[in-house]
Amino acid sequence: MKLLEDKISAEGKALSETVLKVDSFINHLVDPVLMQEIGKTFAAYYKYKGVTKVFTIESSGIAPAVYTAAALGVPMVILKKQTSKILSGNVYQTNITSFTKGTSYELTLNSQYICPEDRILIIDDFLANGEAATGASTLVKKGGAEIVGIGILIEKVFQRGRKRLEDQGYEVRSLARVSKLAKGIIQFTEADL
Ligand code: 5GP
Repeated sequence: MKLLEDKISAEGKALSETVLKVDSFINHLVDPVLMQEIGKTFAAYYKYKGVTKVFTIESSGIAPAVYTAAALGVPMVILKKQTSKILSGNVYQTNITSFTKGTSYELTLNSQYICPEDRILIIDDFLANGEAATGASTLVKKGGAEIVGIGILIEKVFQRGRKRLEDQGYEVRSLARVSKLAKGIIQFTEADL
């Protein structure tokens, strides 16, 4: 998606060879016009795939996910990051290690918000090692529902996330695919959408 690549080139900052900072349009200050265009782009691709809900992981996935859900005309569910296990029967949980923070948390879904008839689209801001998306898909499977696809804003192709997700049988569609990060350098390879 050229609009997103242009924004990343103009405002993204490579903090290291593996971490890209996008605080001025996705992670802290949010560009709603860009988020809406992202939502329309995902919706154009997924509109005939029978999506019933869009799932995302708090908090940076929420803005693009809500615009995608609105464009598809379906609800959005925020998977919560809890610090501890909840000992009750009405939640599904799975342990995740955060790529950027190195800490782990329990990704949590209230079992009321998924049913076996659901066809879920997972949307997240970044794909690095595929930990967050794998956790989200684990919760979808616990709920007995199907995963239609995984939509990513920024994929770092030099990390193993895509392979990990594709090896599990999931289709990944990324709007921007970063092939190299270094001080002052952000390079792209061809994106999916
Ligand atoms: P993964 O779970 O695929 O290893 O990493 C994806 C998650 O880590 C995303 O939800 C995102 O919040 C965070 N993340 C991974 N890489 C980056 C990065 O380069 N920049 C930022 N801002 N977040 C990242």
